[in-house]
Amino acid sequence: MDTAESLSLALLQRYAGPCPRYTSYPTADRFAPLDGAASGPAPWGALQSVKTLSLYVHIPFCKSLCYFCACNKVITKKYDSAANYLETLLREAQWYRDRVARAPVIQLHLGGGTPTFLNDRDLTTLIHGLGEIFDLRAGDAVEYSVEADPRTLEPGTLETLRSLGFNRLSLGVQDFNPQVQQAINRICTPAQVAALTRGARAQGFGSISYDLIYGLPGQSVASLERTVDIVLEQAPDRIALYHYAHLPERFKAQRLIDSDLMPAPQEKIAMQLAATQRLTDAGYQFLGMDHFARPEDSLARAAREGRLARNFQGYTLMPADALVGLGASAISYSRDGYWQNQHSIKEYSYGVAERGQAITRGWQLDDEDRLRQWLIMELMCQLRVDKQEAARRAGQPFEAAFAEALVRLAPMERDGLVRMDSCDLVVTERGRWFLRNIAAAFDRHLNPSQRGARYSRVL
Ligand code: SF4
Repeated sequence: MDTAESLSLALLQRYAGPCPRYTSYPTADRFAPLDGAASGPAPWGALQSVKTLSLYVHIPFCKSLCYFCACNKVITKKYDSAANYLETLLREAQWYRDRVARAPVIQLHLGGGTPTFLNDRDLTTLIHGLGEIFDLRAGDAVEYSVEADPRTLEPGTLETLRSLGFNRLSLGVQDFNPQVQQAINRICTPAQVAALTRGARAQGFGSISYDLIYGLPGQSVASLERTVDIVLEQAPDRIALYHYAHLPERFKAQRLIDSDLMPAPQEKIAMQLAATQRLTDAGYQFLGMDHFARPEDSLARAAREGRLARNFQGYTLMPADALVGLGASAISYSRDGYWQNQHSIKEYSYGVAERGQAITRGWQLDDEDRLRQWLIMELMCQLRVDKQEAARRAGQPFEAAFAEALVRLAPMERDGLVRMDSCDLVVTERGRWFLRNIAAAFDRHLNPSQRGARYSRVL
């Protein structure tokens, strides 16, 4: 594995800058206006023929503000707004009733915000309401996951969630150091997280995932290592180690962070390397980008067997034919493209009340987009591209189909991030740190002049 020393400063200066994360291709910032009333073929037309479906539901409410947060959320202590929002969600779901084939929902994800801001009664109403429209399933053959805030999740809610079919829990841990927690306004003790982890296991949640963040104010290599050590005591099945992107000019909440406490770029890199080393030393498998899993976890097995896929929640092993995203700012996709809802709750609610949906932007995929979408996801998930398969899909030799990308890749090949032979384009171990840059070489919609303003840094 690379060390801070072997990732030379020159290498980092060349590649550590802003770059998309490629949870979709094209990336969401490329989406164009799409009002949902278009008479031509719309991307949701393809929902009629899906065999499997994913559902995402965005619950944008939180009780207090974490200063690092870049999510679409509303901070409130009042419950009324959540109750109204729930009604809107179920009305939006109705819009899909005649537009989606009755296909099994193999993935369901509640994200936020804080999904468990909804009380148990309303969580039940939500899932039962969705079950009247979509073919929800139970058991281990589906992945039903929920994001939870360990500061506010009640043990009783775990039982409710489990009874509603959820089998995966994602806990936002971020960092255990008290000074860091103070600096980001998110106080949460190891004991709280440990108790919920035990509770979730006792309830039969098959997979528990922790989110950690490096590069936070007040964090150091030593403090992050201590956080990782505490995390390892609970042995979560999966761990996401995200890079904190400090963009106060874009995200108002981040202006509350004391910039004097921000670690230097070189220190952040050392943090990521140190945490990665500690996790892999403890037996976790590095899946690429920022995800780790215990070797016996289904995601780790899928990575070893070349079956990993990627969606808006990160890595997955169950890519469905389409995703229906419900709620403010939620994104949906089908084989024909993407569509996204209004960002603000007000406009989202207005759209649903008026038209039954609140679609505002999206992207219709053409054949060239589909080709590059496949290739970029191969790079992000399998860390290699079969050049013959790419040529077959392109209908011409690999070198001719991706001539411009290969020019952009040449310096990365010289820097040892990728290697190419007659059969494959392969991401090297060093290249894993710069996966986003390698994928970006194939992105025909990327506007280099906007990278700094739109994307987070690679490292
Ligand atoms: S980090 Fe999570 S809990 Fe905190 S404000 Fe953002 S969405 Fe809410």
